[in-house]
Amino acid sequence: MPGCPPESNQIAAVIDLVIQVVQGKAELPPKGSVIGAGDSTVCDECKRARNVKKIKSFERIWGIVPDPALCLLEQGIPCNGPATRSGCNARCPIAGAQCIGCYGPAAGVSDYGARLISSFASVLDANEPEEIDRILDGLVDPAGQFYRFNLAGSLLRAGVPAWKKEKA
Ligand code: SF4
Ligand code: SF4
Repeated sequence: MPGCPPESNQIAAVIDLVIQVVQGKAELPPKGSVIGAGDSTVCDECKRARNVKKIKSFERIWGIVPDPALCLLEQGIPCNGPATRSGCNARCPIAGAQCIGCYGPAAGVSDYGARLISSFASVLDANEPEEIDRILDGLVDPAGQFYRFNLAGSLLRAGVPAWKKEKA
C-alpha cells in the first residue's frame, strides 16, 4: 500500500476490503498486489493545464511564484507526476508542490527514473548539448529525484551485479 502517508480514503477502502474478506464476502488480491492506489498516473488526476512543454531551466519550488493553473513541470519545477501511480488525487501539485513520487511507479512503468527522464527531456527547450547540460545541471538531486522511493525495484539496481561482474 503506497503513500507517504497513504491517503485516508485509501486506508479506509483497504480496511473495508479486509473486513469483507474476514466475513467471507470477498477475496484478497494476489500476493504482491498494490492496494489502495489507482491504476493511472498523478498527472491524470491533476487539474493543472499542460500546454507549454518548453522550459529553459529547472527551478526550485521556493525560487518562483508558480502559475496556479499551469503544470508545474512546464514551469520548470521537476514534478514526478508523469511516472507516479495515481490514488492521492494529485494532492501535492494541487497544493502547489511538486509530486516527489511517494505512490511509486505507475502501472506499466518498468523503471521509474527512466520514465521521468523521458518526461523531463520532452519539455526541454534546447537542441545544443551545452544548453541541454546547462538545463539539466539545474536538477540539484537527480538520484533523489528519480529513485527516492523505488531504487530497490529499479532496472538500475537490478543491473548492478552484472555491471560489477563486467568491471571485475
Ligand atoms: S507534471 Fe505535476 S503539475 Fe504537471 S500535470 Fe503532472 S502532476 Fe500535475
Ligand atoms: S502528489 Fe506525489 S508525492 Fe504527493 S501524495 Fe501524491 S504521489 Fe505522493
